[in-house]
Amino acid sequence: MRIDLHTHTTASDGSDTPAELVRKAARLGLVALAVTDHDTVDGLDEALKAAHGLPEVIAGIELTTDTETCEVHVLGLHLDHHHPQLLARIEAIREERIERARAMVEKVRRLGLPLDWETVWETASSRGFIGRGQIFRAMRDQGLIPQGQAREAFAHYFSKGGVAYVPHSYLSPEEAVAAVRAAGGVPVLAHPGRLMSGPPLGDELIGHLAEVGLMGIEAYYPTHDAGETARFLRLAARLDLIPTGGTDYHGRFGAAGVELGSYGPPVSTLSRLREAAEAAGRDAAKEEGRHGETTVPVT
Ligand code: AMP
Ligand code: MN
Ligand code: MN
Ligand code: MN
Repeated sequence: MRIDLHTHTTASDGSDTPAELVRKAARLGLVALAVTDHDTVDGLDEALKAAHGLPEVIAGIELTTDTETCEVHVLGLHLDHHHPQLLARIEAIREERIERARAMVEKVRRLGLPLDWETVWETASSRGFIGRGQIFRAMRDQGLIPQGQAREAFAHYFSKGGVAYVPHSYLSPEEAVAAVRAAGGVPVLAHPGRLMSGPPLGDELIGHLAEVGLMGIEAYYPTHDAGETARFLRLAARLDLIPTGGTDYHGRFGAAGVELGSYGPPVSTLSRLREAAEAAGRDAAKEEGRHGETTVPVT
């Protein structure tokens, strides 16, 4: 029995619509599928509606955060994707993403490449979402990237510190963990062995995130080698984090040769995640109650 706890759709930078992704997972016989688009929950209602029986669709998100040295992604699983606070935050991020993308396109133009914002937005964005992968794809489609040099070119332009890179300015990892918890979700550190740049994530930062509310760590991931997976499984045991896993599926926009469901953790992970979500939901309700008491005047 296979599960996949990390996937993208056309709501962010994947190529399959949420309904297509769910149907594909059903065809492959997956028992659970978390839909975790970058910084958006826009695909979730469609994915949940497309689910009939199996797979169980888990409402998720992948929040992008920045630290001084590297970019850290935080998955939120089983969250309440209609939570007003979460939606307000996501809307602010969406607008900031567009401004950031415009600034990156402007940087590319200043380098002398004929890339214009309108074309990038019209051809590469998806449902109002845009990111580096999509800007890069637009450049490739316009013949601005030499054949066979995609990897080097992406790093040159868009890695942290790259010539056209603009940082994300929205969330810290701690804030992302708190935002997921406030929406009753289970925060999970995504692909800790694969950062966009910077030194490998140290045990210290992971330990610190566990102290501020992190509940899981993505130990199983396509680019993790056996040593990394073992390291994250050990850390999970030591810090009482739930080890998760997924393919980071992006359809035809993703890494070739990684089949949906091929990096899932054991199926028993599902009940651990559900229990953790219940605990997160109880904590969030208590928190909201506390704030309610202080803001509602007693008459
Ligand atoms: P952003 O969310 O705007 O910071 O962009 C990050 C996205 O860029 C990731 O989610 C990937 O989909 C994409 N990406 C990262 N590295 C590469 C790469 N080497 N080639 C193409 N796309 C990439
Ligand atoms: Mn992506
Ligand atoms: Mn990621
Ligand atoms: Mn991802």
